[in-house]
Amino acid sequence: MNENNCRASYYADSANDCVDYAALSGEQQADICVIGAGYTGLSAALHLAKKGYAVTLLESETVGWGASGRNGGQVCPGHNMSHAELSKKVGRAAADALWHSSLESVQLVKDLIAEYQIDCDLKQGVMHVAAKPAHVADIRDSVSYKQKVLAYDKIDFVSDAEVQAMLGTERYYGGEYWQDAVHLHPLNYALGLAKAATAAGVKIHEHSRVTQYQAGKHAAVHTQDGVVKAKYILLACNGYLDKLEPRIAGKIMPINNFIIATEPLSDELCRRINRDDIAVADSRFVINYFKLSGDNRLLWGGGENYRRHFPKDIPNFVRPYMLQFYPELSDVKIDYGWGGTLAITLNRMPHFDRLEENLFVAQGYSGHGVALATLGGKLMAEAISGSVETFDLFSRVPSPSFPGGTLLRWPGLVAGMLYYSMRDRFF
Ligand SMILES: Cc1cc2nc3c(=O)[nH]c(=O)nc-3n(C[C@H](O)[C@H](O)[C@H](O)COP(=O)(O)OP(=O)(O)OC[C@H]3O[C@@H](n4cnc5c(N)ncnc54)[C@H](O)[C@@H]3O)c2cc1C
Repeated sequence: MNENNCRASYYADSANDCVDYAALSGEQQADICVIGAGYTGLSAALHLAKKGYAVTLLESETVGWGASGRNGGQVCPGHNMSHAELSKKVGRAAADALWHSSLESVQLVKDLIAEYQIDCDLKQGVMHVAAKPAHVADIRDSVSYKQKVLAYDKIDFVSDAEVQAMLGTERYYGGEYWQDAVHLHPLNYALGLAKAATAAGVKIHEHSRVTQYQAGKHAAVHTQDGVVKAKYILLACNGYLDKLEPRIAGKIMPINNFIIATEPLSDELCRRINRDDIAVADSRFVINYFKLSGDNRLLWGGGENYRRHFPKDIPNFVRPYMLQFYPELSDVKIDYGWGGTLAITLNRMPHFDRLEENLFVAQGYSGHGVALATLGGKLMAEAISGSVETFDLFSRVPSPSFPGGTLLRWPGLVAGMLYYSMRDRFF
């Protein structure tokens, strides 16, 4: 078991019935072997099984053990690269199509939750707010761009005064409110996808770390105690890929991000700090994000590190970020603190690739993966069944490797990240 365990998380403690899936043992045949049971792998497996393929899904720990069971639960359209910048890189038509895919990814999450009746505290509304007055102009411009250039009418600019009334603090300023975005309990969403996939015929094996594989004519995926012989292999390991596939490791950088959960708060306090029960993310480079849980806890995400290890005392690492905006919560008890590893790419667009004829990968959602990883899995399933258009739309976005490859990417990235987090403090 990896030492960066999430069993201490609020999500793990409030998980719906967890099913134990037996480890792989001996030889199995499948049409497709998927590696990694986060949203990418679960969505791929589910969509493939619905198309009639025989699918085996291998997970080194447990379903949703990675970022999918630990995240902020915000499901918002858009990409981390602006539409204007994307248009310069891939052309206006492709940038428009990528924007529409992001809208579809949010709808896909909602549709799956409805179709499989996944009980995951689904709630409406996400707002991005300025952490400094100087950030408001950019947010106003971004809203206006989406309304005018993209003809998107499900977004509103929210004034300083209204943000402050909604969030009960004068430390946040103007924001953009995404009417159609949602937030949810991430682990229960992953567990619901696993249940749906199993019902559709997918064979899930937990505690089955893939140690090596070969694609090509005699594709085979090996764990310590078994082997899956398959026609296709899908890589869905994201920030936990490690050394499994050196050809793509340099395309992503694993980053650790942390969340705390307070004790349950009174209804009155909840309404004061989050009047409309929405999810919020701010404009800092190392963003703060928060929402209320189903049982009135404040879940606050803040702070990250770029090492293999998590801080020893996560509650005390994250708490100061919360108190900066809500000093009145200084007496509130922190019941949980946990972390997770996500993968970012150099240009913050997801990295989708076909490494060999029968080997696909989708990774690097750069903090935007609840919706995009669900879509990534579906697009790999479509690519295998013959509709490659949307998978290729993403795979054609240039995905540069981090300078220095897997060995030397750390020093450059860490210096860059530290520079920007210093800017958070001063500008
Ligand atoms: C703290 C935090 C907050 C976040 N907040 C948000 C948010 O609010 N909104 C949002 O959209 N995104 C958010 N993200 C990002 C989002 O969680 C991820 O983009 C998404 O979960 C990626 O899903 P995935 O399936 O690709 O990867 P993961 O969920 O990480 O799954 C990969 C799986 O592969 C398994 N694996 C790895 N190697 C092997 C192997 N050799 N053999 C077998 N299995 C293996 C791992 O154990 C893991 O379970 C956040 C991430 C973190 C960490």
